[in-house]
Amino acid sequence: AKHGSGDTTVVFSPDLEAQLSEQGKLERQLIEALDRRELKVAFQPVVDACSGDICGVEALARWNSQAGPISPEVFIPVAERAGLIGMLGSQILEEAIAQGSRWSELQIAVNVSPLQLRNRYFAGGLKATLDEFAFEPHRLTIELTEGVLISNTDQAKRSISELKALGIKVALDDFGSGFASIGSLRQFSFDRVKLDKSLVANIEHDAQAAEVLAATINLVNAIGIPVTVEGIENRYQAEFARQAGCHQLQGYWFSKPLSKEELAKRFLSP
Ligand code: C2E
Ligand code: CA
Ligand code: CA
Ligand code: CA
Repeated sequence: AKHGSGDTTVVFSPDLEAQLSEQGKLERQLIEALDRRELKVAFQPVVDACSGDICGVEALARWNSQAGPISPEVFIPVAERAGLIGMLGSQILEEAIAQGSRWSELQIAVNVSPLQLRNRYFAGGLKATLDEFAFEPHRLTIELTEGVLISNTDQAKRSISELKALGIKVALDDFGSGFASIGSLRQFSFDRVKLDKSLVANIEHDAQAAEVLAATINLVNAIGIPVTVEGIENRYQAEFARQAGCHQLQGYWFSKPLSKEELAKRFLSP
């Protein structure tokens, strides 16, 4: 098939056509899953780097489709393209906040797509959910990727200001994986920076990678923003990140993401 407009011509290969119909199928399944509220939330512990105690959890969307589990790396982009991210995002936020209201000692972090922030009712809607569950705003952290810095629409900026004015914390996720600059950290006054797991991978075998991680931790500390390192998979990485001045750690070394029941059983006193 050929679609031309002006001098730009896009040729769909059979491969691409197959991919597109696969997308369509996934999209329809996702609509149904959202309709039936079938998406779940897994919670991964975040620990204090010094004490090793759990201080919070990150909520991660899970979809167990009829055909088996589908990764959020797959279905989040589908939801974004299909205009479903608003609905998906509010289901996840509601579930995370409802659960978090029963874990009064923990900080709850939720991933939010830059597209959700373009909705001017985002902050107001979130406030209503917090009120409904009597959840203190400062116990909620919204994690944003640098997509929000790039898209950088006025409405996204306004939403971030509104969240901060409500007392909700805002973190920059995946720092060090792309283009986010020191300047942007200051401009948006993030409450926390999470370093991308690619900065940690392999530091035990690669002295230069280890130096880059330590330097990045120092840099964010120099701006005065607390740092979380994620993707910690072994004792060496945990100890290295702690000694480099990182405040919080997250990764399979401490725990993989867990169901709410497992999390309570393993990490919270009854
Ligand atoms: P992320 O926000 O960077 O989340 C961390 C990802 O790393 C999670 O993958 C987590 O399971 C994984 N992880 C945790 N510890 C380790 C480790 O030690 N080693 C390695 N290799 N990986 C680790 P997951 O759950 O598959 O999520 C992938 C991405 O999907 C997330 O990356 C986030 O960008 C997105 N996502 C997940 N849930 C949501 C959501 O509710 N809303 C939005 N907008 N995005 C979400
Ligand atoms: Ca995240
Ligand atoms: Ca991340
Ligand atoms: Ca990520």
